[in-house]
Amino acid sequence: MLTDAPPRPANRVSFLESDRMRTLDLPQDGRLTAIAKSIEAAMKAGTSADVRCACADFLRAASEFYGIPDCGIRVLAARPVRVRESWSTELFGDYSPETMLIRVWMRTAVRKEVTSFGTFLSTLCHEFCHHLDFQRFGFADSWHTRGFYERAAVLYHHARGTPLKRLIWMRMGDDRWRIDWVRTNRSR
Ligand SMILES: [Zn+2]
Repeated sequence: MLTDAPPRPANRVSFLESDRMRTLDLPQDGRLTAIAKSIEAAMKAGTSADVRCACADFLRAASEFYGIPDCGIRVLAARPVRVRESWSTELFGDYSPETMLIRVWMRTAVRKEVTSFGTFLSTLCHEFCHHLDFQRFGFADSWHTRGFYERAAVLYHHARGTPLKRLIWMRMGDDRWRIDWVRTNRSR
């Protein structure tokens, strides 16, 4: 995971705010964890309509908790030709702020293998965090800052029911940051 470079000065304040915000309020009643389990079950044994339905439940519950409008969801069999995201070479989803639509796909771009549940849920949480950036935090854009990745990780580990790792970042040459996985994994 690599952060975006800081934007032009007009958006710098919003960018730094996103970078500093390292955590996220979470519902305390386990509803997201329960729905995440139903996504996993649908991926194992259900149809893509079942997966879509469970994802829609997840996003509805999350949007309701954060007090923002619900977003749409499409579950695609494979990666579409045109995607919005450009954060990784291997893409699993995208989000459009104009239409508030999340799209996730169930097969990887390169080897056409079925995406694992962990990757799929992580993508869903990542895309939902873009929705949060616009709808709850009112940022001018939704950059992949250190804060963004950490908020997405907080949501993902909560939904998955796994312990949160403290992410350790290393600075790259061009004002960007990359997760130092060796040190992050060692710090547990
Ligand atoms: Zn993204």
